[in-house]
Amino acid sequence: MRKKIIAGNWKMNKDVEESAQLLEELKKQTLAPGVTAIVCPPYTSLTEAVRILKGSSIQLGAQDVSLQDDGAYTGEISIRMLKSAGCSYVIVGHSERRQYFKESDELINAKAKKVLANGLTPIVCVGETLQEREGGITEKIVTTQVKGVMAGIPAEDAAKVIIAYEPVWAIGTGKTASPAQAQEVHKLIRTLLTSLYSATVADEIVVQYGGSVKPDNAKELLSQLDIDGALVGGACLKADSFAAIVNAC
Ligand code: PEP
Repeated sequence: MRKKIIAGNWKMNKDVEESAQLLEELKKQTLAPGVTAIVCPPYTSLTEAVRILKGSSIQLGAQDVSLQDDGAYTGEISIRMLKSAGCSYVIVGHSERRQYFKESDELINAKAKKVLANGLTPIVCVGETLQEREGGITEKIVTTQVKGVMAGIPAEDAAKVIIAYEPVWAIGTGKTASPAQAQEVHKLIRTLLTSLYSATVADEIVVQYGGSVKPDNAKELLSQLDIDGALVGGACLKADSFAAIVNAC
């Protein structure tokens, strides 16, 4: 049985005080014990998150990482900094990073390797745009992305990667892929991972769905055979809705 993992991507929301408030509220929620819940606040709130989440089962993640280890890279945050701040997970290749910062599969692959080499878990995002879906090339796009982001990652590390399938047209739009549409792509990803590695490895890899996941659609999405959790944006900014998604697993 694969683990169920729900991660909340706060994006560029919540200053330190607002983050503390949300984390305090989250701590009061009852979360299903068999599910891993992760919060990914902005960098500026990581230290506060560690302080508040001490003793809680909620795990901490970051939203991105630099490819560089240290030095003259103004504005960048290294993996060592994230590790020392208390992060166990790092989102890489979110569609907003691909769109606004022109991140390529090659760069995302290098970031995923950097995260793995430092003992943290990458949450690697893939997904097609609306134009690509309407053009009938979802399978081609997702296959290229998965191959690209997993390139050169050996089987023993592949099983540690979390893949987040996030159709770009469903992110922050209120449009969700239907459970059947999502399952179809998740199955495709699982089959591809089987051919890249083995059935055993593919069976271990957690594949999350992301795109307007809310308490009222989470249960149906999460009950699909190849959907092992969710990467949640908007709905993770309220403690009760994030908890409801965790508890829908
Ligand atoms: C996301 O940004 O990863 C995301 C899935 O956002 P939302 O849940 O708001 O669609």
